[in-house]
Amino acid sequence: MRRTGYVYALRYLLHDPGSWHPERPDRLKAIHDALVDSDVFELLVRLRPDYAPLKWVERLHDPDYIRRFKEACEQGRQILDTQDCGISKDSYLTALLAVGGVMMAVDSVMKGELDNAFCAVRPPGHHAERDRAKGFCFFNNVAIGAVYALENYGLERVAIVDWDVHHGNGTQHLFEDDPRVFYVSLHEDPQFCYPGTGYRREEGKGPGKGFNLNLPFPPRSEDSDYLEALKKEALPLLRQFAPQLVFISAGFDAHTKDPLAHMNLTREGYREMGRLVLDLALETAGGRLITVLEGGYNLEVLEECVEDHLRLLLDIPYDHF
Ligand SMILES: [Zn+2]
Repeated sequence: MRRTGYVYALRYLLHDPGSWHPERPDRLKAIHDALVDSDVFELLVRLRPDYAPLKWVERLHDPDYIRRFKEACEQGRQILDTQDCGISKDSYLTALLAVGGVMMAVDSVMKGELDNAFCAVRPPGHHAERDRAKGFCFFNNVAIGAVYALENYGLERVAIVDWDVHHGNGTQHLFEDDPRVFYVSLHEDPQFCYPGTGYRREEGKGPGKGFNLNLPFPPRSEDSDYLEALKKEALPLLRQFAPQLVFISAGFDAHTKDPLAHMNLTREGYREMGRLVLDLALETAGGRLITVLEGGYNLEVLEECVEDHLRLLLDIPYDHF
């Protein structure tokens, strides 16, 4: 069995983007309640997050944007930047706590106290740009975690594998000229799906060219399509890159039952993708893997897929199914 951290806080439920919004507090509550009911929970090491220091948030986000977000919450505004980024008075602090949760996972894994970790955080992060909120996201949790690992722990190479069904425009843009971060995204073709970026031709810029791999898939793609692309295209490049720490931006919205996109992945497909990425981490990064929740809007899918992923991280057998 491996030592696996689990980041969660009741305060993650305080960000309320509006009653109509798919990125609702119930997502995280469902994940947590299902875990507590399972035999997995007692095996996890609970990590209780703190608010991220502004210094690290400012490393990737514009200070004016951070201030604008804080003030919008204090003033009781309901939207930040775009209609889909609903906010409430607690959203700013909740977003800082999400970043802080990922940073705490980085600390535990980099110090060798844990082998790997899962961060059940919200709001999600991968659409957040340097100077604006986008696509339910405010601060780019995984990106700040990556830069924190690089600069606080002296790493040289970090990989982020993003299997959320939507392209992680924010993560790509924050690192597109940075050869220290290899970003791989598997997502629905931008011609058909939000956010309209993530074409293959977007390969990174300047010194970062070649360290950004977009793998877009047409609607109704299946497990085998994702797994083949991961095995044949992404993993050979990632092995060559040899990351010292691996992150997964884990959205579960490519599942066939998810209401927001149009893909046909299954629970088994997510199990297998997780195994492939974990194998990479075991080969090149001493097993150091940090998974950060992004999207996923069917509660049953979230419960099942997150529990499966934690079994993989812990190295215990899957449940019946
Ligand atoms: Zn998504």
